[in-house]
Amino acid sequence: MVDLEQLYLLQQLDLKIDGLTTSLDAVRSKLNIDGPAVTARARVATLEAHIESLYARRRASERSLTELNDKLTAEDTRLYSGSITSTKEMQAAQEEHDFTKEQIGKTEEGLLALMVGIEEAETTLTKGHKILETLEAQADQQTAELAEEESSLVNQLKVLTPERDSSAKQIDSKLVYRYETLRKSKNGHVIAKVEREMCQGCRIKLTTSELQRIQMATDLVQCDSCHRILYFG
Ligand SMILES: [Zn+2]
Repeated sequence: MVDLEQLYLLQQLDLKIDGLTTSLDAVRSKLNIDGPAVTARARVATLEAHIESLYARRRASERSLTELNDKLTAEDTRLYSGSITSTKEMQAAQEEHDFTKEQIGKTEEGLLALMVGIEEAETTLTKGHKILETLEAQADQQTAELAEEESSLVNQLKVLTPERDSSAKQIDSKLVYRYETLRKSKNGHVIAKVEREMCQGCRIKLTTSELQRIQMATDLVQCDSCHRILYFG
C-alpha cells in the first residue's frame, strides 16, 4: 500500500503555490498596464505643443503689425510732407497708404482670432492639468497598493517553495515523477480523495470492485473515469 498522505500534502502545497503564482502574474501585468494617467499626460503634452505653436504665431503676427504700423507712419509722413509734387505720384502714394491700412486691419483681425484661440487652449490646458494631477495621484496610490501586494505574494512564495521542495524529497522520486507528469493534464488536481465511495475529482461513484482494488492495492490506483490517483483520506 502506497502512503499517499505525503503526496496529497504536496499537492495542497503545489495548488497553493499555483494560486499565488497566478495572483503574482496578474499583479505584475496590472503594474505594467498604462493607466488613464498615461493617456492624460500625452494629451496634455499635445495641448502644450499646440499652445506653443499658437504663441509663435502670435509673436509673428505682432511683429508684422509693428512693421506695418511703422510703414504706415512713414507713408503718412511722406504724404503730408509736401515732398510729393506730381498728382500721379500722390495717387500712387495714397494707394500704397490705403493698402497698408487694409493689411493692418487684416492682421489685427487675425491677431484677435488668435488671442481667442489661445485663451480657449489655455482654459483646456488648465483643465487637462487638473485632471492629470488627480489621475496621477490615483495611479501612484494604485501602484503602491499593487507593489505591496506583489511583495506580499513574493514573500509567501519564498516560504512555500522550499517547504514544497523538502516535502517532495520525502516522497519516493518515481511517485513524485508520476504525480508531476499527471499534474499538467489535471490542472494540478492529480490526487482525488475517496469520500462516500465517490472519486472527489470527477464526482463519479466508484464500483465495489474499484473500492476493493484501492484498499488492497500495493501500487497507485487511478480512477477509471478521470484517471486521478485515488486516495482514502
Ligand atoms: Zn475520478
